[in-house]
Amino acid sequence: MKGLAEYIWMDGAEPTSKLRSKARVINVKGNEASLANFPKWSFDGSSTYQAKGHSSDLVLVPVSFVHDPLRGDGCYLVMCEVMEADGVTPHATNTRAKLRQVLDAGAAAHDPWFGFEQEYTLFEGLKPLGWPEGGYPAPQGPFYCGVGADEVFGRELIEAHAAVCLEAGVMLYGINAEVMPGQWEFQIGHRGFEGESGDPLTVADHLWFARWLLYRIGEDFGITATLDPKPVRGDWNGAGNHTNFSTKEMRTPGKGAAESERIIKNLAAKHDEHIAVYGADLDRRLTGHHETCHITEFRHGVADRGASIRVPPDMATKGCGYLEDRRPGANCDPYIVSARILATICDIEM
Ligand code: ADP
Ligand code: MN
Ligand code: MN
Ligand code: MN
Repeated sequence: MKGLAEYIWMDGAEPTSKLRSKARVINVKGNEASLANFPKWSFDGSSTYQAKGHSSDLVLVPVSFVHDPLRGDGCYLVMCEVMEADGVTPHATNTRAKLRQVLDAGAAAHDPWFGFEQEYTLFEGLKPLGWPEGGYPAPQGPFYCGVGADEVFGRELIEAHAAVCLEAGVMLYGINAEVMPGQWEFQIGHRGFEGESGDPLTVADHLWFARWLLYRIGEDFGITATLDPKPVRGDWNGAGNHTNFSTKEMRTPGKGAAESERIIKNLAAKHDEHIAVYGADLDRRLTGHHETCHITEFRHGVADRGASIRVPPDMATKGCGYLEDRRPGANCDPYIVSARILATICDIEM
């Protein structure tokens, strides 16, 4: 069956790369596509901040795909790594290749699972969705997980997004309205279903698919989603990307608690290295207020939402489970965040 495959990649924009995509016709015989159905494809790197004009051809190498829920049968969303013109050397902006390196250098043996809590803010024109013209809404308090036309704004878009994620086969975990009006969250990653993991490459790919779908659905609603880590200055929550992670040892009863303590020590020692790659403008969000720990401090605590690392209650009571790194900003690159965490906790040079 002939259909369109939307090739998606990350560009070279500084300091935060953005998504780009273009589509080509493919012909998948039978029901199930495989990576072999998606040929390599070139693009103009000089228009994406990835090359100079005189030698601008770069190569898109498909690495994972899901169904395209918008175009339907025979159509796919295809995540690509950007390679140099030789088709095999990762381009400098190819952060997925860095995550592969860390996994191959030993991290994969620890069977790591990830889960991201992607917070984002909806905007209509220049103001957050649902905010009054030229003013501010009521102070924060009632909006988080709220219900009612006076408390949540953009529900229709959020529901449409969740539906297409499920239809596509993206590893959606959940959705919720956030503390600041117009702000929402979706989670991508390990869901606890039998036989499913939360392997880092798949989870990060799926977070990018979910972001792409959010922007794409937003086109139909005339609403934009921003990943700015502090979209409104003042007494308003910023937007983060809490990163939950576990290894086989952390998930093992009798071993998990001690292993987590070792890991937290490693994370404390490398705090600055993590902050450096957790997203642009992190200092605007990590102020020590609004459920954050100050950017210059590292703290951990059980159920502590003002800590850098929150230890979920289960880890304390059952002695095994996962940890939550609350530092990454909404605009972080999940490939880089996963690579950094794995390098630190598995003692790998990055
Ligand atoms: P919070 O209470 O911080 O708002 P959420 O319910 O929004 O947490 O998100 C929980 C996240 O934890 C999800 O992204 C999920 O994938 C992740 N998660 C759950 N269990 C594990 C695990 N064992 N290893 C890694 N991540 C996990
Ligand atoms: Mn959450
Ligand atoms: Mn949240
Ligand atoms: Mn969280």
